[in-house]
Amino acid sequence: MNERMYELGAAPSAIRELFAYGLKRKAEIGAENVFDFSLGNPSVPAPDAVAQVMREALELPPMQLHSYSPAQGAPETRAAIADNLNRRFGTAYSPDDLYLTMGAAAALDACITALTNPGDEIIAVAPYFPEYRVWIENAGCTCVEVPARASDFQLDVPALQAAITPKTRAIIVNSPNNPVGTVYTRENLEELAAMLRAEEEKLGAPIYIISDEPYRELAYGDAQVSWVPSIYDDTLVCYSWSKSFSLPGERIGYVLVPPAAADARRVYLAVCGAGRVLGYVCAPTILQKAIAGCVDTPVNVEPYVRNRKLLTDMLDELGYEYIEPAGAFYLWMKALEPDAQAFSNKAREHELLIVASDSFGVGGWVRISYCVADSVITGSRDAFAALKADYE
Ligand code: PLP
Repeated sequence: MNERMYELGAAPSAIRELFAYGLKRKAEIGAENVFDFSLGNPSVPAPDAVAQVMREALELPPMQLHSYSPAQGAPETRAAIADNLNRRFGTAYSPDDLYLTMGAAAALDACITALTNPGDEIIAVAPYFPEYRVWIENAGCTCVEVPARASDFQLDVPALQAAITPKTRAIIVNSPNNPVGTVYTRENLEELAAMLRAEEEKLGAPIYIISDEPYRELAYGDAQVSWVPSIYDDTLVCYSWSKSFSLPGERIGYVLVPPAAADARRVYLAVCGAGRVLGYVCAPTILQKAIAGCVDTPVNVEPYVRNRKLLTDMLDELGYEYIEPAGAFYLWMKALEPDAQAFSNKAREHELLIVASDSFGVGGWVRISYCVADSVITGSRDAFAALKADYE
C-alpha cells in the first residue's frame, strides 16, 4: 500500500481527534457539561428554501433526479451561479467558467492539481487550513509557509514576496479566514496584487491566487469581503455552500476560472482534467438542483453576530487576549503558555475543547469555533475562568 496514504488515514487531524474526544466525553458526563468549540460545523439551520427545492426535486422522474450530470456540472446550475455572481460583482462570467465540485475541498484540490507539476511550490499564509498542505504535497509540491503579519494577521506582502521563487505557481488566500477570523482589507489585497504582477513580470510566468472563500458571506460589522478577481486577474475562486447555507454534509461547491485569468481556457480544462484524475466529477445531482433553485437566498449571519459578541464580551471580562474576528466563525485566542497543545490539554481538564494552533502551522494560540448554540458560550464561562486561574 501507499505508506503516505496509510499515515494520513491512520492519524486523524488534531481537530477531528478533539471532536471525537468531545463526543465520547458528552456521552460520559452529559452534553451540557462539555463546551465543545472544536469544529467548524455551522450552527445556523440551512435556509428552508434548500429543503423546499430538494423536496420538489424528489418529485421528478427518477431518470432525471438520479442521473449523472456532465462532469463539470449541469449547465443550468452553472448558469444560475454565473448569474448570481454577475449580479453581485458586476462581472460577465459564463457557465463555462464554472466547474462544480463536492465542496470547497475538492475545488481546492482540483486547482492545486491543475496548476502544478511535481517540484513546484505553493504558498500558504500561516496559520492556515491544515488540508492545504495535504493537497499540495499529494501533488508532489512544496507547501511554503509564510506567516501572516504579526500585528493584525493581514497578509504580510513583503514576506510573501521574499518567498517567491521561479517554482511558485500560486498563493492560497483565505478571507474571511479560518482559523483567525480576519477579513483581508481591499488595500492589503491590492498591495498583494501589485507585488504579484511585478513578480509575474520578472518571472515571465503567471502566479495565481487561489482564493479559498467558503466563508465569503460571513462577515460582520464594517468588514467588507473584496471580490478578489476584481483586484487581481490571475485568480481562481474556490467556493462552497458548506458554511454560507450550512450544508457541509451535502458537499457542493465550485471552481471559477475567470476568463481574464492567464491561460484561462487551458487552466479551466486542466481543472476538468484534475477533476477527472481525482474522481471529482459530476457533483451530486440533487444538490446541483437545490443550488440552481436557491442560489439567491440571503445568508443568515445574525446568530454568528450574537455569538461573536457573547464570546468577546466574556473573554474581555476574563482578560483573555485575542484577535477581534471580522468574519467566518472562529476566534483566535492567545494561549496562556507558549505550548498551545499543553494549553489546549489544560482546557480539556475543564471540559473546554479548543484547538491548539499547532494544527494550523503556528504555535502559541488556540482556535475557538463559535458556531455553537449560545448556551455553549454562556455555559463555558466558569471553565474559561478556571482555565485562566490555572495560570495566575
Ligand atoms: N477551506 C477552508 C478555509 C475551510 O475552513 C474549509 C472547511 O472547513 C474548507 C476549505 C473545505 O470546505 P468544504 O467543507 O466545502 O469542503
